[in-house]
Amino acid sequence: MKRIALFPGSFDPFTKGHEDIVLRGLKLFDEIIIAIGYNSGKSVRYFPVNEMVQHIKATFAAHPNISVHTYAELTAEFARKHKANYLLRGLRNTTDFEYENSISQINRQLFVELESVFLITSPEFAWISSSIIREVHKYGGDISGFLPYKL
Ligand code: ADP
Repeated sequence: MKRIALFPGSFDPFTKGHEDIVLRGLKLFDEIIIAIGYNSGKSVRYFPVNEMVQHIKATFAAHPNISVHTYAELTAEFARKHKANYLLRGLRNTTDFEYENSISQINRQLFVELESVFLITSPEFAWISSSIIREVHKYGGDISGFLPYKL
């Protein structure tokens, strides 16, 4: 059976930390689906979702086994529909752990087949967070070094 992993997130923006998790995930999975959780009626994003989809697609253009989607439903439901049996997530610190721990328990309740796999961040990306990048960008700082694509 093909090992298909879903890598869900807000990716506002998608960073080098995210890219690192995807590239390392490729050693474990046959296919990775990057899914931006986005509800047009509710979500207020800093970086427009369609532009982010294009940036992520360009980042992984050389990898036919990586696809990019948006979704506005339960992550477990989206995974089921796309036949993904694994959820891929990154862990930077204990705050990430606490959050990921409860989400993964809930996802497991909703879809028993869904196994969460966590990769510990590479040290050089541990401090990169989408929220800090948004803040730097808002005040005119150069964020190009944190992103795997050109804005
Ligand atoms: P969410 O809104 O679901 O937390 P994010 O886009 O912030 O979405 O993050 C998606 C996933 O990537 C999460 O598992 C998060 O812990 C992980 N992640 C975020 N930044 C990094 C990083 N610098 N290194 C490794 N993993 C990261």
